[in-house]
Amino acid sequence: MELLEQRIRKDGLVKEGNVLKVDSFLNHQIDIGLLNEIGKEFKRIFAGEKITKILTVEASGIAIAAIVAQYFDVPVVFAKKTLTINLDGSMYTTKIESFTHKRTYDVIVSRKYLGPEDRVLVIDDFLANGCAVTGLIDIIEEAGASLAGVGIIIEKATQDGGKRLRERGVRVESLAIIEDMDPVTGEITFRHQ
Ligand code: 5GP
Repeated sequence: MELLEQRIRKDGLVKEGNVLKVDSFLNHQIDIGLLNEIGKEFKRIFAGEKITKILTVEASGIAIAAIVAQYFDVPVVFAKKTLTINLDGSMYTTKIESFTHKRTYDVIVSRKYLGPEDRVLVIDDFLANGCAVTGLIDIIEEAGASLAGVGIIIEKATQDGGKRLRERGVRVESLAIIEDMDPVTGEITFRHQ
């Protein structure tokens, strides 16, 4: 997505450790105009799918998924990170290892909000090692729901999450794919299919 690539080039900051900071328009301050364009683009890409729910993980996924969901006219469900897992069976649970925080979270989704009748679009801001998306797919499988695909705003091809998910047969659609980024020069190279 050209508009997104331009914005990443203009305002993205390349940090050591293969981290891209996009706090000025996506992860701290949010450019709603850009997110609306992102929502329209995901709707165009997944137009052939009858999606019933959008699933993401807190916290940064929520704002993004909420705006995207307006174009699909479906509810957003977000997996919650928790310290205490309730074992009464009312929740789907899985573990997600955070790339940015270097720790593992238990995440939960209530059985009330996802079930076998659902066809789910997973939305997240970044795809790196694929832990967040894999955890969300675990929850969809646990719910007996079906996965329509995964919509990612920025995929880093320098990590193999996207490759592994596609090898599993998951439809992953990323609006910008970073081939390479240099923390010294700040240069970012995008991959175009
Ligand atoms: P994964 O689970 O695929 O390894 O990482 C995805 C999650 O880690 C995303 O939800 C995102 O919050 C965070 N993340 C991974 N890489 C980056 C990055 O380069 N920059 C930022 N801002 N977040 C990232």
